[in-house]
Amino acid sequence: MLIDLHVHTMISSACSQIDPLNLVDYAARIGLDGVCVTEHEEMEGAEVAHRLGMERGFRVFRGVEVYTEFGDMLVFGLYRPRFPWKMDFSDLLKEVRRAGGVVIPAHPCRSDRDFFDRLGKEKAEYLLSHVDAIEVLNGGNTPEANGAAQAMADKYGLPQVGGSDAHLLMQVGRCVTRFERELETEEELVEEIRAGRCRPFYAHQLREFRCNAPWWRSASKGG
Ligand SMILES: [Zn+2]
Ligand SMILES: [Zn+2]
Repeated sequence: MLIDLHVHTMISSACSQIDPLNLVDYAARIGLDGVCVTEHEEMEGAEVAHRLGMERGFRVFRGVEVYTEFGDMLVFGLYRPRFPWKMDFSDLLKEVRRAGGVVIPAHPCRSDRDFFDRLGKEKAEYLLSHVDAIEVLNGGNTPEANGAAQAMADKYGLPQVGGSDAHLLMQVGRCVTRFERELETEEELVEEIRAGRCRPFYAHQLREFRCNAPWWRSASKGG
């Protein structure tokens, strides 16, 4: 099943123009099986979208994107209304572990620098040995930045996920994660990510994707 693991809505992300109701309808229409709403530092938008999804029979999983000293982290399986900005990574990690969730660096190489360039060897290795997966395909990244993230995940044997990082409706599904199993609950989502039973794709690589966004038409024509 195909899930976009990284979407922002206007409820909690001032930078997003996506109405959660439109998100649920649009995501179902283009052939996604689910989306994760991951707002910056708060969960209200995810809760709203999750409730709408339940009413309409579409899977909306709740997550959050938390800014730490090591950059943005996607978190699933940890529920609290608000997180501090620039949260200490080790505090976040403690909470994630206690809750049985997962922590995943989002767009780790967006500036075209990997963790080693950006943080130095010691911190990079600490981080890579404590995260559960890496977002190696991010819809807002260049192919080079995604490639660098993928190389890092390959080298460290970490599970790999993808998400659009959509802030506009037509960006939803630019990058997705395909899961081997049918997922119904957030516990299952967390379990499958941790086990690495998932793979990221650019949507234009997938035949079953029914998107009409201009970026998709031109990308798929190009091959
Ligand atoms: Zn981010
Ligand atoms: Zn984001």
